[in-house]
Formats: sequence, structure tokens, C-alpha cells
Amino acid sequence: MNTFYRGPACVVWELTLACNLKCLHCGSTAGGKREAELSPGEALALCDDLKKAGCGGVALMGGEPLLRKDFFAIARRVRELGMELSVITNGTVQSEGIFRGLRELSPRAVAVSLDAADPALHDRIRGQKGAFEKSGSFIDRCLAEGLPVSVITTVHKLNIAELPKLRDLLKGRGIAWQVQTAGAEGGRFSRDLLLDKEDFYAVGLFVEACRRHYSAEELPVIGAHDLGYHSALLTNVSLYEKWKGCQAGISVAGIRSDGGVMGCLAVNDAAFVEGNVRRESFASIWNRPGAFAYARAFKKEQAGPECAGCEHAETCGGGCSEMSLMKTGRLHNDPYCFLAIEKKMLAAEKSGPLRKLGLKLGGLAGGASFRRLGGIFSGKRGRDA
Ligand code: SF4
Ligand code: SF4
Repeated sequence: MNTFYRGPACVVWELTLACNLKCLHCGSTAGGKREAELSPGEALALCDDLKKAGCGGVALMGGEPLLRKDFFAIARRVRELGMELSVITNGTVQSEGIFRGLRELSPRAVAVSLDAADPALHDRIRGQKGAFEKSGSFIDRCLAEGLPVSVITTVHKLNIAELPKLRDLLKGRGIAWQVQTAGAEGGRFSRDLLLDKEDFYAVGLFVEACRRHYSAEELPVIGAHDLGYHSALLTNVSLYEKWKGCQAGISVAGIRSDGGVMGCLAVNDAAFVEGNVRRESFASIWNRPGAFAYARAFKKEQAGPECAGCEHAETCGGGCSEMSLMKTGRLHNDPYCFLAIEKKMLAAEKSGPLRKLGLKLGGLAGGASFRRLGGIFSGKRGRDA
């Protein structure tokens, strides 16, 4: 099969698994460091290695990446090498030096997690009293520094009702908002809190309605990869006009803090580690024939029962690999698919509420274009995208 894949557009790099919070939904159950995390020297060498492999951008996350003492040395190397930089933080580790350092990096995005507009609920989800206030002040300070701020909200049963309040908190402030749904990989998360299909579809509806109601300047909002696909009604949820399948090992990659290379860190399973940058270069792992076969070499015959016979199976690949594994224990079988949910609703209903919903959505004025949103989410806020 593949002999060469262009370097990843983006590598999501878990700098450390250490974290000062204990978030309920944390997919990697962060808290303490991984055994044998990359040393400062190894981390800097990995930056060079990523550049050589043709990587376009790096998103530094954790755990909490700002806990690493060499965070700025690594981030600076990423920028010196000409790669885009995003930082994903819980926003509770802060100092004058951090804000100054972030500004000097000219990052594409500083993304801060915010799970509720209600401070007590956010603190409960994040496992620390006062976390909401700290993250809020981090966001305010980054905005004051002119940094491109994003907020990431991870939705589950505890906070789904917070979405309208979060929308009101965020709109009009120049903050880009990414809405994603929680998985059940983490050890602190109870499966009872996972969204059911109706909740999941409601999250899609919420994002769609925001996108149709507000301009990209008023409220730039996107749904993450797992919110999709091929819906007849919800056509304006993700950052892309067309879903092209799970991009793990195709245009994105993940690196664990111990050097393990994966297609996507959301798939929190050691069986999906393709190699380690301590033993070979990133390029050699990325370009190895047969690597990331679950995404690169997918054939529609491999689709599971949820996706078998779907007209989009070939290009969709059966949805999000993480969602599929988490929900059904196998790949290419994502049951949380807007198209499949709509088909089931249409088959079950007689009175046409789905059709009425479509008419209501169609009646919403305005709308944020994919092009404009693409510009905002790639760090071109305030400029023509
Ligand atoms: S049914 Fe499966 S293959 Fe078809 S669009 Fe949904 S996730 Fe993709
Ligand atoms: S596993 Fe899901 S979140 Fe990860 S790259 Fe694939 S679609 Fe995106």
C-alpha cells in the first residue's frame, strides 16, 4: 500500500501527562507523569525531527503542558523551525512570564478548556475549587495580550444544558469555540455520563443553530471530528464542508510524552502506538509501509454492522475511530453518526418532526461560512481569510 505520506499537517504532542487538575472526563486520566517522559534534550531533538518529516504545525497539550519547565524552550524551537504552534491548556497555571512568553511565540491558537458557565459545575468537572475563576482570568489576560484564544468544551450529561449559557458567555468576545463530546476512555469517567444518541444529535443541532444564527465574527464555533457525518440537516457543524474520514495517520498524528507515536491521541490504547521516537525518527515511523493501516488502508468491506451498506462508507471509513472503538469495541463502526441517526428517526416517525426541524433550521438567517471560520481557526482573526 502506501509508500509515502506527506508530513502531517498537525501533530498533537502530549508534552507531559502530569496535571494539576483531575477532570472527570480526561481520556488519558492525567495526573502523574508517564513513565520515562522525553527529556528536554529529546524533546528539542523531536522538534527538529518533526520539521524534517514535513510537519506543518504542532499542538502542545498535556496533562497540563505549562507544568513542563522546558515548555517555552520546546515551543520556541517549534516556532524557530517555522511550524505553526497551538497550545492547549486548562488555564490554571499562570504567571506574568507565561503571558509574555505566549505573546512572543505568536501562536496560531491558545486553547483553554471551559466546561460550564456555572463556576461550581466547571470546578466539579475539573476537580478543583476555583478552577473556573483561574481559567476565566487566563482567557481575559490572553485576550488583553492580543492572543488568538479558543475555548474547548467537552460535553457529557453533566454539562450539556450549559451550552446556551456558554454561548452567551463567549459570543462577541473574539473567542473561537470548539465543542466536542466526551469519550469513556478515562478512569475517572462513569459511562452513565456519556451522551446518548439524542443528546449527541442535540449538540449537533445546537452548533448548527449557532452557526446559522451568528456570523463567524460574533461566535466562531465548530464541532470536533466526532460530530458528524453526512447529515441532510446538520450541514454546518464542523470546520470542513465535507467529511473525509478519520485523519489519524493521514493528516494528523499524536505523540505521547514517552515518545510513542499514534494516529490520534484520542484513541487511548497502547495497541495503536506505531513506534517510538526514541528508537527511530518520526519520519521513519510515519512513512513505514503498512503504518496506520486502519485509516490509510481502509476498505469499505471492513465497515462494521453500523456502517455496512452505507453509501458513504468508502470515504467516511465508518466515522471517528475513537468513537467507534469506545462505543462498539471495534473500528469503522461509529454508531453516533448524524446520517444514521436521521435515517433511524425517519424510519420511526410518521408525523415528520424531522422535516419540521429542517424547515426551522432553514429559516434561521445569517450564517458563518466555512472559509471565514477556517481563517479564524487557523489564527487569521481580524484579517481577511
Ligand atoms: S453510517 Fe458509518 S459509514 Fe455511513 S456516514 Fe455514518 S459513520 Fe460514515
Ligand atoms: S480518532 Fe476521531 S478525533 Fe481522532 S483523528 Fe480520527 S476522527 Fe479525529
